Amino acid sequence: MRRGLRTHLTVTISLFALVIISAISLLANLSVHIGFEKYVKQQQKARSQDIVDNLSRQYNSMTGKWETGYIHGVGMYALYEGYIIKISDAKGGVVWDAENHDMSLCRQIMDKITQRMQDKRPYLQGGMITHHYKLEQNGQTIGQVAIRSYGPYFLNENDFVFLNTLNVFLFVIGILSISASVIIGGILAKRISRPIIKTAHIATQISQGNYEARFDGKVRIRELNELAAATNHMAESLETQESLRKRLTTDVAHELRTPLTAISSHLEAMIEGVWQPTAERLQSCYEEIGRISGLVADLEKLSEIEDEDWILQKVPFDLLELAHVVSRNLESEGIKKGIRIDVDGTSTVITADRDRMSQVITNLLSNAIKYTPEKGSVTITVEDGSETGVLTVTDNGIGIPEDQLPYIFERFYRTDSSRSRKTGGAGIGLAIVKSIVNAHNGTIEVVSDAHQGSSFIVTLPKEV
Ligand code: ADP
Repeated sequence: MRRGLRTHLTVTISLFALVIISAISLLANLSVHIGFEKYVKQQQKARSQDIVDNLSRQYNSMTGKWETGYIHGVGMYALYEGYIIKISDAKGGVVWDAENHDMSLCRQIMDKITQRMQDKRPYLQGGMITHHYKLEQNGQTIGQVAIRSYGPYFLNENDFVFLNTLNVFLFVIGILSISASVIIGGILAKRISRPIIKTAHIATQISQGNYEARFDGKVRIRELNELAAATNHMAESLETQESLRKRLTTDVAHELRTPLTAISSHLEAMIEGVWQPTAERLQSCYEEIGRISGLVADLEKLSEIEDEDWILQKVPFDLLELAHVVSRNLESEGIKKGIRIDVDGTSTVITADRDRMSQVITNLLSNAIKYTPEKGSVTITVEDGSETGVLTVTDNGIGIPEDQLPYIFERFYRTDSSRSRKTGGAGIGLAIVKSIVNAHNGTIEVVSDAHQGSSFIVTLPKEV
């Protein structure tokens, strides 16, 4: 079974926090213990020195006597702290000995310390150690003291209580930190996973054909916001594609229906003998069939250009020379309407698919002738930009209303005036032009004023 993103993130973040916090707690614990034990060792050394200094002062050099009463106090006090002391004078005679004084108490105290240390610090492998110190007064040795204690060091009851409290404290902090990191990890995981889960859900809906699904709301993480925006963008383009596809079917049906209805009604009338099959009537049927063939040919051209595997047959040629060739081919169309076609500009050699570029100029020029009233004029200009070749087809015809300009390159789009005039084709010519220009990495722009005329400007890179 695959884990969900949220669970995965929570578990990963929590595990990571657990390892880090445990490592920190362990290190803190270790360094506190090491530090504390170092401190205890120093304290015990200082305490021994303290006992020595204290005892040195208990000898009266005038009388040669020891303050045995006070020494007894110091010795007993030290005994309860875990130090067994034995004081001898300069000649080696025993002045005071804790063990002599109360053997069983000494044993009892030392057993307790040994037991405690062996229980809690067995790795120290400690035991009773005796240190000897000289007792001096004004630089003269007045005796010596043997101090016996558990070594290398020992901890008393309070020390262990302190260390235990510290351990509990660190443990509680560790537990609190781990709980906090699990909660924060969970919140973070939720924040990251929610938009991803939502996007995945939307992507699923889109894959099931619901192109209206959108990611709404803001995401604070930049990359996730980009993901959501990209998903929305994808949904939008799929929605547009889908509506284009639907419209395409309707448009094709519509474009075919008109000539087919005309042909079938004409033929029906002739078959039933209502109409004589005159040459004129047959000619009219023939023209309608021509319209259908033209439409099919245009659609074939378009699908060929839009085919992903379509390869441009690139050759270097002069754009101006091609413009002359095309204008000659369409000259008769112009003459029929009394329209002058001029070709101007400079020789511009580009490397492109010559036949397709001829198609571009033909479509633009025949549109210019079609949408220009009699006695109008059409000009093709070719300019040599340093990196590009620019071809402009300008007419002083009916023009295109501004609000319809954005749509004229769409397939089957015709402006209202061209629909009503019956002059237009099926609205595929400019879609073909645009596809060819795009395939050459070029651009096409249109500048037009209703009733003033139009200019179509094609810019092509010299090397595709
Ligand atoms: P069509 O086969 O109808 O000419 P196009 O795709 O070539 O189709 O053109 C689309 C529409 O753009 C035309 O129907 C017409 O309304 C408008 N159009 C194209 N060229 C011109 C032009 N030179 N002047 C005015 N309108 C034009």
